[in-house]
Amino acid sequence: MSFKSLGLRTELLRAVSEQGYSKPTPIQSKGIPPVLEGRDIMGGAQTGTGKTAGFTLPLLQRLMESGQATKGKRPLRALVLTPTRELAAQVEDSIDTYGKYLPLKSMVIFGGVSIRPQIDKLRNGVDILVATPGRLLDHAGQKTIDLSNIEILVLDEADRMLDMGFIRDIRKVLALLPKQKQTLLFSATFSKEIRVLAHELLEKPALVEVARHNTAAERVTQVVHPVDKGRKRELLSWLIGSNNWKQVLVFTRTKHGANRLAKQLEGDGITSAAIHGNKSQGARTKALAGFKAGDVRVLVATDIAARGLDIDQLPHVVNFELPNVPEDYVHRIGRTGRAGNEGEAISLVCVDELKLLRDIERLLKREIPKVVMDGYEPDPSIKPEPINKGRGGQQRSSRGRSGDGNPAGKRNSGNSNNRNSGNRQSKGRSGNRRNA
Ligand code: AMP
Repeated sequence: MSFKSLGLRTELLRAVSEQGYSKPTPIQSKGIPPVLEGRDIMGGAQTGTGKTAGFTLPLLQRLMESGQATKGKRPLRALVLTPTRELAAQVEDSIDTYGKYLPLKSMVIFGGVSIRPQIDKLRNGVDILVATPGRLLDHAGQKTIDLSNIEILVLDEADRMLDMGFIRDIRKVLALLPKQKQTLLFSATFSKEIRVLAHELLEKPALVEVARHNTAAERVTQVVHPVDKGRKRELLSWLIGSNNWKQVLVFTRTKHGANRLAKQLEGDGITSAAIHGNKSQGARTKALAGFKAGDVRVLVATDIAARGLDIDQLPHVVNFELPNVPEDYVHRIGRTGRAGNEGEAISLVCVDELKLLRDIERLLKREIPKVVMDGYEPDPSIKPEPINKGRGGQQRSSRGRSGDGNPAGKRNSGNSNNRNSGNRQSKGRSGNRRNA
């Protein structure tokens, strides 16, 4: 199977070959034909499978075929919704890359940055918009965007959007779109909520699945190192140093924990940066760029901040702390072993986290091998303590809560710059991701 045999136009083939892709990945070869036919899609694919190109390439082709006149202001015809700023930016990059030989314009909008330049750019007219739901609604509220000509809607990482409490925002956006449109829904996991949404949204969708439900990326080698909580940092530094790891993504449960760990690793002589929702967009972009360029050896991230990071060939992911929600483990380890590369996911697990580990293994339907490291044997006299999930945090996820975390009617539109995006964790809200 080649990209050409999928029936893609030459401009797209040229852009793809410039990327050095020799053949389509499974999600691409299965997903591109039905999208080109105009069908709705229910795509089961983890990150790293090539799903972005899988929907972007046929989306670009469809827009070219539907060929709206470009005289005057071009109507907005395709909308891609993503859970986080980082993912939104990356998707737009991909659209830019694959569409470089086509006369289509795209742009990205998300919160955490000034809304004015976005308004100006929208006013000039774009064909494709990638957006996080909150900022999109800000624009809709200010009537700086017209969604009435949308032909194609993509919901990327829909499971994560629901996890992050975007369902109400998503429904508000849907209400602004034409009824007649093509909808592509992608999700790594298929919870009941996702199936409900799919049922409401999609018409006779083609089911395109490349990974079994809720299974971790198969190329990723997984291991658990049992270790006492107080010795995790030491073990991590030792693992990085003794194995001479050059690029490691480390997950913590809280923003505070991410900051502290990054500082401690720096103290150990390992260049590190933290990335989480309390960091400004500039700081996050800088940290990511430093990490990608190899200047920063360790990127310490919370779940939400890490969502959507596309870092090629990331060899090592370390769970410094296990996530509260087992599905997050799958998302985390999906950061490694991307698009055909080998990867290793290491979890440092203390006695407090054994229940979380069992929940993860239940989800994966297999045990993760445990390897006790010499010199880091857990002290059997240490008793488990409750896990600190952040101030007032509670056990179960935030599903179904309001889209912006604010009580109805308490939205502060003046604060819209900060309200949106994947890291919109408002203070004082309970829920396990509150502190992410
Ligand atoms: P995604 O799952 O969309 O985040 O893509 C994961 C990575 O795979 C990205 O770095 C893409 O550039 C890369 N990729 C996408 N399609 C292909 C392909 N056909 N061959 C090789 N790499 C690809």
